[in-house]
Amino acid sequence: MSQSELSEINDLVADLKNIVGGGYVLDDKADLLVYEYDGSIDRGSPVVIVLPASATEISSVLKLARAHSIPVVARGAGTGLSGGAIAEQGGIVISMARMNKILEVNSDDRYAIVEPGVVNLDLSTHVGPQGLYYAPDPSSQRACTIGGNIAENAGGPHCLAYGVTTNHVLGMEVVLADGSVTWFGENERDGVGYDLRGITIGSEGTLAIVTKISVRLLRSPEHVKTILMAFETIEDASAAVTGIIGAGMVPAAIEMMDHFCIKAAEGAVGAGYPEGAGAVLLVELDGLFEAVEEEYEEIEAICREFGPLEVRVADDSLEREKLWSGRKGVLGALGRLAPNYYLVDGTIPRTKLVDVLRQINELSERSGYPIANLLHAGDGNLHPSILFDERKPGDVENILAIGSEILRICVESGGVLSGEHGIGLEKQDQMPLMFSDEDMATMSLLKIAFETEDLLNPGKVFPTGAGCGDISQARAIARVGPGAYI
Ligand SMILES: Cc1cc2nc3c(=O)[nH]c(=O)nc-3n(C[C@H](O)[C@H](O)[C@H](O)COP(=O)(O)OP(=O)(O)OC[C@H]3O[C@@H](n4cnc5c(N)ncnc54)[C@H](O)[C@@H]3O)c2cc1C
Repeated sequence: MSQSELSEINDLVADLKNIVGGGYVLDDKADLLVYEYDGSIDRGSPVVIVLPASATEISSVLKLARAHSIPVVARGAGTGLSGGAIAEQGGIVISMARMNKILEVNSDDRYAIVEPGVVNLDLSTHVGPQGLYYAPDPSSQRACTIGGNIAENAGGPHCLAYGVTTNHVLGMEVVLADGSVTWFGENERDGVGYDLRGITIGSEGTLAIVTKISVRLLRSPEHVKTILMAFETIEDASAAVTGIIGAGMVPAAIEMMDHFCIKAAEGAVGAGYPEGAGAVLLVELDGLFEAVEEEYEEIEAICREFGPLEVRVADDSLEREKLWSGRKGVLGALGRLAPNYYLVDGTIPRTKLVDVLRQINELSERSGYPIANLLHAGDGNLHPSILFDERKPGDVENILAIGSEILRICVESGGVLSGEHGIGLEKQDQMPLMFSDEDMATMSLLKIAFETEDLLNPGKVFPTGAGCGDISQARAIARVGPGAYI
């Protein structure tokens, strides 16, 4: 690093300390290392990390960044699986760790106002005593933040019946790239006009930084029934899922795990899954007592058609917790089977489950890499996890190629590139599988309506190679010119 670059960084650090306070700016090498990665396999080092306490401080940070053309990446808990929080182009990482307060709970109108760094599960724990909960429940909910959930439009096991993050966010305060602070959606203003709230959800931190969120709260169900169904093969389990959904039933959750996942989860948490099974389904029903019991009878009858090895209902909340602990802990538990796993996130129409899982199995056999299958099966969201060892030469390249192939299979089967983890760095080069040059140019115009300097989480979502998206974005900026804002 040259002397002038060093002095520029020192000036930047000093300016940031003036904004957020000396203790909340990190530029030590050891600190930067911790922020180099998220849950994906990409890496990138920021120049500096700031931990602001308010939208006003974030606004000042963005104005400073814009004045010096420095990229900015917002960061929640860093559990993202597509590289969204990685500072691939260096610059400033804005951590939401200090903005973690639940500001208001309105149990009559059933909403809460929270800061973006609130951990997902903490909200439901906080409002639970009032008979309320926040529905989107990513399996990472003990760690991930509501801000990160908004950026990725996160889903979770119970999103089958209740919808994903966008269905539960009423409105939000955001800081735009020029530092202005505004509100999108309901609560502070009426949600009329263009749905800027909806556009921001799932935009992966590329359009605005979310600083306050109004979320919908649901009333806790009167009755919950969790059922474990074990099958000899994953094909039988998939057919049972298709049967349940085809009969017009929408349980709160239908999760599927194959034999690799069962083995890993059992080894790690002893959830009580039958180890000899080829696949298990975890089905949850909730609602009024009579309705749940009636639905259970129907679902059990459908499953019996596919010859389950076992159907077991959790007797009490402890047993239910145990069954779910296996599912929610399975990704970490895959570490028992291999040093690394690469989790792919794609969706397919539910009727294609059997066919697509067969193709993934063939891919695993051909390549020699085991693939553990974990699915939000009810909504056709696949998470094949390719087991590998990053220390072995060639493994990373090979598993990335297998991941691409799985996504191609998903798209060709009528699905999409991501069910919930976003595009980020991970899938940007697969975007042309789904979108034409024209599509990408149109999407670029949206980004440009928010900022033309491309400083908010740059280099994400749009393809970087000689593909169409990067060219489209450059053309779109040239057409609009810098400095255009909504
Ligand atoms: C074990 C495990 C299980 C998982 N299970 C699920 C699951 O079931 N469903 C699911 O959807 N995902 C799941 N994920 C992925 C991940 O947890 C989600 O994508 C989550 O929403 C990320 O939240 P985060 O706080 O960790 O965000 P980060 O990883 O820190 O950031 C993710 C993105 O959000 C942006 N961002 C963060 N905060 C803000 C903000 N305030 N304003 C604007 N942009 C912001 C970042 O720039 C980045 O682009 C799982 C991950 C792991 C490791």
